[in-house]
Amino acid sequence: MPEPGPVGNMPSGESLAARDRGLLWHPYAALDGPAPYTVEAAEGVTLTLVSPEGERIEAIDGMASWWCAVHGYRNPELDRAVVDQVTEFSHVMFGGLTHRPAVELAELLVEVTPPELQHVFFADSGSVSVEVALKLAVQYQAARGRPERRRILTVRGGYHGDTTGAMSVCDPEGGMHAEFSGLVAEQLFVAPPPAATTPDGTVWHADEGSVTQWIEDVRATARKHRGELAGIIVEPVLQGAGGMRTYHPTCLRALRDLADELDLVFIVDEIATGFGRTGKWFASEWADVVPDVMCVGKALTGGYMTLAAVLVSAVVGEVITASEQRALMHGPTFMGNPLACAVALQSVRMLRETWSEDVARLSAALSEILPVAAELSVVKDVRVIGGVGVVEFHEAPDPAALTRTALEQGVWFRPFGTLLYTMPPYVCTDEEVRTISYALLRAAQHVELQAGS
Ligand code: PMP
Repeated sequence: MPEPGPVGNMPSGESLAARDRGLLWHPYAALDGPAPYTVEAAEGVTLTLVSPEGERIEAIDGMASWWCAVHGYRNPELDRAVVDQVTEFSHVMFGGLTHRPAVELAELLVEVTPPELQHVFFADSGSVSVEVALKLAVQYQAARGRPERRRILTVRGGYHGDTTGAMSVCDPEGGMHAEFSGLVAEQLFVAPPPAATTPDGTVWHADEGSVTQWIEDVRATARKHRGELAGIIVEPVLQGAGGMRTYHPTCLRALRDLADELDLVFIVDEIATGFGRTGKWFASEWADVVPDVMCVGKALTGGYMTLAAVLVSAVVGEVITASEQRALMHGPTFMGNPLACAVALQSVRMLRETWSEDVARLSAALSEILPVAAELSVVKDVRVIGGVGVVEFHEAPDPAALTRTALEQGVWFRPFGTLLYTMPPYVCTDEEVRTISYALLRAAQHVELQAGS
């Protein structure tokens, strides 16, 4: 055994952050990366944190725990849904068995999504739901007598998860395709749709010429490769983790039309955008498109548990059922976990009632305050869509300094690259969204000051 190096485990008795360091990998972070903040408690929209230096900080969660904790923490209804289900049973296999939370959640999802979507597959995370959707597209083509059609068309700048199938449709650079070549399938990429904005949440602004040109180019590429293509996958209107970019709904519509023309399975990844985040119940509604397959996750359980769902059209469902295999070829151990389904059922019931008013409140405060940041010379762009506010810098600032400045204002952010953004919990009051927005603004002003010094 080699001697423990500088990142070896710390003895217990140290702070949690110290014990964590060298022991645990955090997302995309080195074992000896910056020490994490420790969460002591989470209630409502507030996290009680302990800094690596041991300081206790109360902070509003401007990230909603990577966009899931839309109802906040310790929500009484969600807590109750979990506790009630625990006292029944926490998990049973889904092979050959079913249960009330799964059936009721699937019925509700079918009810709240477009009528064409009639079937549900429960996956254990967003990434896994994308895997299922991709497999479904390949199975669909095989069932239609076209087994050679196995590639997926997608746009650059996208993000669909970290498993290898999902990675294959992420932006090649962000998805590290070169690093994992041989492992990650070679999909067909087209340019990202031209950027567009909707400052008032109704009218979209984009360069019309670029949009028309983009559509023509994508059509030409897809037609050329039609014999290899199984489906199209895209994040509707907002590309999230790939860069928090918004694009014109016309581009989404064009992809839907292309899928119809070439008989491709049209998959929309609503994992980040679903349940109201962009100001529509589902972001596909911006373009009035109905997908063949829709992936949802994140806000589905209000961030209480990991769960995603793949909603599938009656047409695709029929083709799969009439195929030689008859089944959708996937089936994880924790499929349809009763605890996750029970809490998701309650989460979606609540979202349905409250999302519209909540997201309008978030949007109003973000759009009033964040544009001030556009005046800073270090800021390249400010954009707001629904309950999403983004400040993009010309150059990536020091993320730790940004986080610290925002924490001094009482808000938790997790900047990445050139982006500082927020997706607040839906339950934030007007005052809380304002606090988040001003903290974002102050952090941007701090970057400007540092740049000038
Ligand atoms: N698709 C999109 C659009 C996402 O934003 C994410 C997560 N950020 C995923 C898929 C992957 O979901 P998960 O992290 O639950 O696997």
